[in-house]
Amino acid sequence: MQKQTLIVIGGGAAGFFCAINAAVGNPNLKVIIAEKTTKVLTKVLVSGGGRCNVTHACYSITDMVKKYPRGEQFLKKAFGSFFTTDTINWFKNYGVDLKTEEDGRMFPTTNTSSTIANCLLQQATNNNIEILYNADVIAIETTNNFLLKLKNGNTLTADFVCVAAGGYSKIAQFSYLQALGHTIVPPVPSLFTFNLPKHAIAQLMGVVITTATAKISGSKFVQTGPLLITHWGLSGPCILKLSAFAALELAAKNYSYTVQINWLPNFNENTLRSFLQQFRVSNATQKVRNRNPLGLPNRFWEFMLQQTEINPEIRWADLPAKNQNLLVKALCSYEVAVNGKTTFKEEFVTAGGITLTEVDAQTLESRIVPNLFFAGEVLNIDGVTGGFNFQSAWTTGYIAGTTILNKCIHEKVS
Ligand SMILES: Cc1cc2nc3c(=O)[nH]c(=O)nc-3n(C[C@H](O)[C@H](O)[C@H](O)COP(=O)(O)OP(=O)(O)OC[C@H]3O[C@@H](n4cnc5c(N)ncnc54)[C@H](O)[C@@H]3O)c2cc1C
Repeated sequence: MQKQTLIVIGGGAAGFFCAINAAVGNPNLKVIIAEKTTKVLTKVLVSGGGRCNVTHACYSITDMVKKYPRGEQFLKKAFGSFFTTDTINWFKNYGVDLKTEEDGRMFPTTNTSSTIANCLLQQATNNNIEILYNADVIAIETTNNFLLKLKNGNTLTADFVCVAAGGYSKIAQFSYLQALGHTIVPPVPSLFTFNLPKHAIAQLMGVVITTATAKISGSKFVQTGPLLITHWGLSGPCILKLSAFAALELAAKNYSYTVQINWLPNFNENTLRSFLQQFRVSNATQKVRNRNPLGLPNRFWEFMLQQTEINPEIRWADLPAKNQNLLVKALCSYEVAVNGKTTFKEEFVTAGGITLTEVDAQTLESRIVPNLFFAGEVLNIDGVTGGFNFQSAWTTGYIAGTTILNKCIHEKVS
């Protein structure tokens, strides 16, 4: 019997996962990865600061899907087939142990991303997967099977195609997929930090507020978590999560908006005012500079006193009510004008991509073109930082691959 052919477009995490899982124990399938550049697994290698944050130690699908600003419902179904434990076991089965860090992020025990890349490359070799470099797919034609046109003029034919081309930053780059009848949610960046040009707060660069709440003014977008002040503005998990969930809206505002920060999320203006009222009484003779009542970093406390025009040498008893009110407002509802964004060096992803209603979450097969599959960031799925983006790539790659494997077996039998 003649072998069938699967062409996977893109040699990234999702592409390799699809290719390997389609090829394992499947002598009826020839698998080719078409990669447009001269290298594969580039992002895997640079990911997680060179350590590859493979997944996140979250074992509840309900909790996990909340980490995806786009794709929540789709992944709820897909995770039912391949979830975190499956990723851990898959790598373990091929000799790679993962470890969990305090914040839940999982890395290879070797602490180097090359362990993951080498494992995937080894499995590709073991399963006779062919990798074509400089194979930039520019068009896919569907007749009896698929005809793929490459930029270098060559053509390839296939019975199955899986598009695992990653996130494109411009909608024009999706045109070869639109030509197949798929619609695209326009791409915008996700996971970025906020620029506060020339803002005085930049003098606090390096200061971390362990738990802060940041809200995009006039919107429903609000996130809580560690917040880092940088020399250009605001960063840290709280801001990155906010950038992800509000990615579309912030792009529409051209990255110019106001953020309201509560540096003490356990308080609101009323409760903080009451707290300070009592604190003043019991610390009446202490200088406000020396008696920082709220556990905030000292540099930050002094900055807040300066911002609210409070003389740091004043005693708590002598603090004018007007300044106390300003202090309460600055601590609970600090407003900053954001203008621009900066790419987060550790991890950035693209929101947008293939419209999810056009893809079956249980098989990753296109609902428009039979035997066409999608996996990874090319889909309109993206997660916050912490290993969630790779988990989505492993899950979608695995499901696409095993669906193709089963189709092959089924077609051979029938
Ligand atoms: C610096 C950085 C660090 C990151 N760190 C982490 C992390 O630690 N944990 C985590 O979960 N996520 C991380 N991410 C996000 C994660 O890397 C991506 O979500 C993930 O790599 C997506 O995998 P993919 O296979 O879908 O796409 P990609 O890895 O982008 O692979 C797509 C491949 O397709 C190729 N391609 C594109 N178009 C074509 C075409 N027409 N023909 C042929 N080939 C094509 C590309 O050249 C590329 O090699 C990080 C991202 C960045 C940028």
